Order: sequence, then structure tokens, then C-alpha cells
Amino acid sequence: MTCLECNKKLSYLDHRQSIELFQTELCSSHRKRLERLVNKGQVPKEAAILYYGLIQAGVKPMIAWWDGTNTVDLAISRVKLNIEIDTGYEALSHRQAMNDLEAAMHSFKNGFTTIRIPHFLIQNHLQESVENILGIIEGLRLNVRAV
Ligand SMILES: [Zn+2]
Repeated sequence: MTCLECNKKLSYLDHRQSIELFQTELCSSHRKRLERLVNKGQVPKEAAILYYGLIQAGVKPMIAWWDGTNTVDLAISRVKLNIEIDTGYEALSHRQAMNDLEAAMHSFKNGFTTIRIPHFLIQNHLQESVENILGIIEGLRLNVRAV
């Protein structure tokens, strides 16, 4: 059990807290850095879970990435892919939905594709979600080459 960021050996407590929160191995300082990001409301907790899921699959995403108009939950700049976590469709007002649509429009103009993933999918099916995203990255890479 070592921290995925700094390779520091983890105590059992660090291991357990970090697995419970983010489904990954993080030392207390790296875990707290992520907790601050989540607590400030910059990204949902599931963005952090997916971030480390992707890192373990060999992808290097950016978390809470400012694209000039919006903060994107995760971005994979190599293939111009934005990933947004959808939290709670029930509470979605028409204003929020329009903001989402506008954000998607801006990222398309910048050549970015935006996919939205429901938070419960990340919580409960991280591995399958990561595999599908890997497929999307591969598809985008082939399309970039074809142009
Ligand atoms: Zn660490």
C-alpha cells in the first residue's frame, strides 16, 4: 500500500480512508489536497475517483481544468476530450441544463468533445466506465489521425 502520487507508504487508516473516499491509494496529504478541491465545490467527488481510475489505466487527465469559459471536471487534452460528471438529474433546472448546453457548445468550438457521465456510474461501475472512456479516447485518436 503506497500513495499513487508520491509512493509514500500508507498506514492502514490512510489506506482505508482513501479507498472509502476515492477508491484509490493516497497518503493523507494527497488525499486532503483532493478533499479540499471537492469541498470547495470545484469538482464532484466522482471526478476524483475517475481521475485516479484513468491514471491507473495509463491515461493522464487534468482535473478541474479551466478551459477559458468553464471549469471542466476532467480533460484529456491529447485527444481534446472533456469529461463532466452529472450529479443528480432530478435537481437539474432548465437554467443549469442550458448552461451545460452552452458549455458543450464552447468546447465544441475549441475542438473538444464533451461526454457526461452520471455520478452513480463512477461510484458503482468504475472499471467499466474507465474501459468505455479508453475506447472513446482510442476512437478520437483514430479520427484525429484520419483528418
Ligand atoms: Zn502522496
